[in-house]
Amino acid sequence: MKLFPVRGGIHPEYRKDLTSEKAIVVLPMSAALYIPLQQHIGAPAEVLVTAGDQVKKGQMIARNQGTVSASHHAPTSGRIREITEVAAPHPSGLPQTTIILEPDGKDEWGELPEPIADPFAADPRAINDRVAQSGIVGMGGAAFPSAIKLNLGGQKKLEILLLNGAECEPYLTCDDRVMREHADEVVDGARIMAHALGTPRIVIGIEQNKPQAIELMTRAASVFSNVEVVAVPVQYPMGSERHLVQAITGIETPARKLTADLGIVVHNVSTARAVHHAVRFGRPLVARVVTVSGGAIRDPKNILAPIGARIADLVEFCGGFAARPENVVNGGPMMGQPLPSLDAPVVKGTSGILALTAEEINDRPDSACIRCGNCITICPCGLSPVEMSAFIRKDNLEMAAKLGVTDCFSCGSCSWVCPSHIPLVHYFNYAKGALRDQENDRRKNERIKTLAEVRTIRIEKAAEAKRAALAARKPAAGTAPAAGASEAKATTEEKVNP
Ligand code: SF4
Ligand code: SF4
Repeated sequence: MKLFPVRGGIHPEYRKDLTSEKAIVVLPMSAALYIPLQQHIGAPAEVLVTAGDQVKKGQMIARNQGTVSASHHAPTSGRIREITEVAAPHPSGLPQTTIILEPDGKDEWGELPEPIADPFAADPRAINDRVAQSGIVGMGGAAFPSAIKLNLGGQKKLEILLLNGAECEPYLTCDDRVMREHADEVVDGARIMAHALGTPRIVIGIEQNKPQAIELMTRAASVFSNVEVVAVPVQYPMGSERHLVQAITGIETPARKLTADLGIVVHNVSTARAVHHAVRFGRPLVARVVTVSGGAIRDPKNILAPIGARIADLVEFCGGFAARPENVVNGGPMMGQPLPSLDAPVVKGTSGILALTAEEINDRPDSACIRCGNCITICPCGLSPVEMSAFIRKDNLEMAAKLGVTDCFSCGSCSWVCPSHIPLVHYFNYAKGALRDQENDRRKNERIKTLAEVRTIRIEKAAEAKRAALAARKPAAGTAPAAGASEAKATTEEKVNP
């Protein structure tokens, strides 16, 4: 397949060799699992259990609420200890409502939905319902409820399901291992998703630095004429949806548009495997593969961990720290977020936990911009980071917005390449947050104004109706008023104008 060039991008030190040859290993069951109600984009799920309940593996313990949400299931059998506030795996460390489950050691599955015998003959809505019921979210890190994306098939004409196996973030190898060890399941999940979406073609994009995954996935796909595996160049951020689409189709997704507007829906390879489990076996998403790596980890691994396992348990399973970690990151080193506490749990979007030493992170002090233009050359979105950051420093968010700061997807390439070590991406994250707040305030004020206007109109209409009623009761000129009419008029006018 002919590939197309993608603008900008960088080539950081990948360090994937720390775990790429480590087969997936299962985490021994923890003493307790911490399952947050909010592990996804959208509304938190609604709790279905209470403290003291006995639950079986796969039992739904929290149900999705509203249009964008995801359900959660017990990752093993056991007893609900309590439902309480626990620190989230997020830089804020803010507490969020979490179900604490004490495993009973039996790991006993409960009653599961029947497998869908022939998914390719099933109504696409049955596949979507199963995916929603199974609590599947995007496992590449975005954690967007997958059923909503699969529903796009009923709304748009779609041509390609693009399966994202690029895994361009340094250190991370969880998707690489899933493709190498479960290629048939990934391809089957992709075919089921394509049926739900109504896409005739499936393209699986994998970066060229994963030759075994490319070979095994090509072998698994070779029996299906509509499935193609494509080796894409090693170039961060190739794993971003828009850039993968551009590399494979040559089409650039316009700002503020979706790849689905071009007829292409992108899903992660591990998400496809979760769909295979849900449809073929009725199993919900209760575990995921996490890469635990970085120079401070004694024995880096790819671990199959139940959702809710404490990150401290994963680190311990890797032999603990061999050196003092300067930074512990949730996700990859480029787009991941600092982790405030090892007590936070693994959630559905946790692709990696990195414990990085001082040598592995760039915390050198920043200096003045030397106008080298490197940040402009490498920005994959064609933005001008140097100009945007200058306006943000002057608190001129309006100009930063005009220059497109809201189109920045925080890939961190500009910060990485800046010889003055200016933390450009931090400026953009701040600006995007502040602009979002401003927009929310503007919408809130607009709503208040509209409500006030509606109220004024309603009062005026009521007054008008009363005036009209009074006028209708007034005797015509020259006729004598009926007995008691002037008294009634006075009473009515008093009520209208007290
Ligand atoms: S962080 Fe934003 S501005 Fe910087 S290179 Fe990435 S997309 Fe461009
Ligand atoms: S890369 Fe850094 S030093 Fe060079 S122009 Fe951009 S902000 Fe300035």
